[in-house]
Order: sequence, then structure tokens, then C-alpha cells
Amino acid sequence: MAKYGNSIIKGLEISDIITALNKAYADEWLAYYQYFIEAKVVKGIMKDAAIVELTQHAADELRHATLVADRIIQLGGTPLLNPKDWFTNTSCGYEEPKEFDVVKILQDSIKGEQCAISIYSHLVDMTRDKDIVTYDIVSQILADEVEHEEDLQALHDDITEFIEDLKKSMK
Ligand code: FE
Ligand code: FE
Ligand code: MG
Repeated sequence: MAKYGNSIIKGLEISDIITALNKAYADEWLAYYQYFIEAKVVKGIMKDAAIVELTQHAADELRHATLVADRIIQLGGTPLLNPKDWFTNTSCGYEEPKEFDVVKILQDSIKGEQCAISIYSHLVDMTRDKDIVTYDIVSQILADEVEHEEDLQALHDDITEFIEDLKKSMK
């Protein structure tokens, strides 16, 4: 534990930061697996473009899990040790893919990113001017989640537009 490094945290209980980070940690693993499995099962038009994006996002979520786990340890905490705890600690949950259609998969993932944005936005507010190191980490992750939402929404819109054009041309 970073004894002196943690002594500069003011106006926040370290245990509360650890609890909030462990919840985000659970979300990151579930998001990682959701993207991982979506990239495997996705079907339909322009699915290759979706697979590239989903696979890249899976890697980003795993990187986020690493950043969050390292910070929990610096703070003297322990990252959740059992995958069972992911489900009891998650805020954003896990959206099991039920329909594998590319548009539906993208919609599920957009929902997940919107939840991630609200969680990290809350963490940014919580740590601002109080725990600058955590603040810096959660700000970086927040920027990634905003980019994720944008990437998925842009792809979703391209695909739905393409389908609409196709329908028109067949009339
Ligand atoms: Fe993430
Ligand atoms: Fe994300
Ligand atoms: Mg992307």
C-alpha cells in the first residue's frame, strides 16, 4: 500500500473509494466478457466491421480492469477475487446476447456503454479535488467509454442506414 501516496487523499474515506472501484472492476470484467462473446456470436450484414469494433472494445475493457485493480491495490484494498462477486457488485450488469443480429448486439453494447459513462462520471465527481490519482484514472476511462459509445452508435447508424437503402432499392 502506498502509505505516503495515500496520505494526500483528503475529504474521502479510502474504504469508500475502494468499494466504488471494486464495483467498477466488476463492471469492467462483465463488459469484457460481453464484448468477447458478442464478437464470437454476432451474425448478419456488415458483421465483420462489428467484430473489429467489439474485439477492440473487449481489449479496452480488460485494460480498464487492470487500471482499476492496480489502483485498488495501491489504496490498500483487494480487487474482487471470485467471479461470483462480479454479479453481486456490478452496477451495469450483464446483457446476455439473446439475439445475435448485429443491430441488436450493437444496441445491447450501447446500453452498456451508457451505463459505464454514468458510473465513471460519478467516480470523477466523487474524486475531484480529493483523490487526484484515482481522478486521473477514472477520467481516462470515462473518455474511453464515451469513445466506445460513439463508435458503436456510428456503426449502428451506418448499418441501419445501409439496410434502409437496400430495402428502398428493392422496391
Ligand atoms: Fe471500461
Ligand atoms: Fe466501454
Ligand atoms: Mg472503438
